[in-house]
Amino acid sequence: MRRDGALVLEDVPLAVVAERYGTPCYVYSRAALTHAWCELDALLAAHPHQICYAVKANSNLAVLGVLAALGSGFDIVSVGELERALRAGADPKRVVFAGVGKRHDELERALEVGVGCFNVESEPELERLDEVARAHGRRAPVALRINPDVDARTHPYIATGLASNKFGIPVSAADAAYRRASDCAGLEVTGIACHIGSQLLDVQPFADALARVLELVDRLASAGMRLEHIDMGGGLGIRYRDETPPTAADYARALLTGMSGRGERLLLEPGRSIVGNAGLLLTRVEYLKQGEDRSFLICDAAMNDLIRPALYSAWQDILEVAPIPGAPARRVEVVGPVCETGDFLGRERQLSAGPGELLAIASAGAYGFVMASNYNSRPRAAEVMVDGDAMHLVRERESLADLMRGERLLPGACGSATPVGSISL
Ligand SMILES: *Cc1c(COP(=O)(O)O)cnc(C)c1O
Repeated sequence: MRRDGALVLEDVPLAVVAERYGTPCYVYSRAALTHAWCELDALLAAHPHQICYAVKANSNLAVLGVLAALGSGFDIVSVGELERALRAGADPKRVVFAGVGKRHDELERALEVGVGCFNVESEPELERLDEVARAHGRRAPVALRINPDVDARTHPYIATGLASNKFGIPVSAADAAYRRASDCAGLEVTGIACHIGSQLLDVQPFADALARVLELVDRLASAGMRLEHIDMGGGLGIRYRDETPPTAADYARALLTGMSGRGERLLLEPGRSIVGNAGLLLTRVEYLKQGEDRSFLICDAAMNDLIRPALYSAWQDILEVAPIPGAPARRVEVVGPVCETGDFLGRERQLSAGPGELLAIASAGAYGFVMASNYNSRPRAAEVMVDGDAMHLVRERESLADLMRGERLLPGACGSATPVGSISL
């Protein structure tokens, strides 16, 4: 939103955020986050349900804390995400533990804190979980993640419901896996899970996947295995450019239609659709470099801060924070300082900004900071959450000391902690 031409998030001018906390800086809106979660929750009110926000989309403690306070559950894929969720106030019973490669220690910790469900992705994982649970005198609540083999029609790197990828148990093997699971003394079979991909722009694949899952659920019931919940994963797309994703209402309607008349609780694991458009990346232009056939706006944010454009050729809108009235737009490539040709944030954009000016890269709340790295020894960005007219630093910018924390020179090497400016060779 703009006020007198300048971008504001809630009631905070982005220029003020940049001045206070520097750039690059991720900025999230508490109101947007809250709205997205509450809207979906309300739309599902007619059926017993639980939203388990997918922590991997944005795992900042403040984000998790806002959602936990609303009553959200969490979908986690590692013990690191589990500890974050707990620290943010999550109720462990509302946590589902997904992922194809859960380690022994991760299963132990999740059992110890009493997560609500383990979404198991293979028979070897079933066996391991059964063993761990029995060793601790526990029964682990289990859902099997089924691969319904539907085409999510999204980017191949984020399609997860096809027979050809590593996720889930194929429907054809599911009956046997359920029988196996129900014979395990350490397991209590409670549900079924699936997740067919991310950034879906159509509700039909969700409806198709649900229909396949329900067929299986009914078959299992007639064999005496009654499930209590159906977890349809995440994957609802958002608008980055000119896409027309289903609205939350379309999405909820499709799922509730499929579930109508049924008693199983519906679980959902949305990530991107909750946080994606609740955040942006703020960056400052360092240089305008005129190339032979194109110009480059070289920013202080780079692919290490936001990798989606480089990784998936993703398009995210780039806005001038305080455009100078009347300044002519030129066609530019928006790039960072990292030593990779693929280090771009946006290609062929019409922008008037020059050195020193601020840009906001929109729709960066999901799969932004969480995918950041220290490549080129760049400290990771600060994260800020605005709330009305208040702004809160929710993660400090990394320091140069943070960059080298835990590293060591070999014994006898002549490194030094000499302050910059007095380096001697
Ligand atoms: C990534 C993932 C999600 C979240 O996906 P979004 O597209 O961000 O909604 C949910 N469940 C599982 C199992 C996932 O791997």
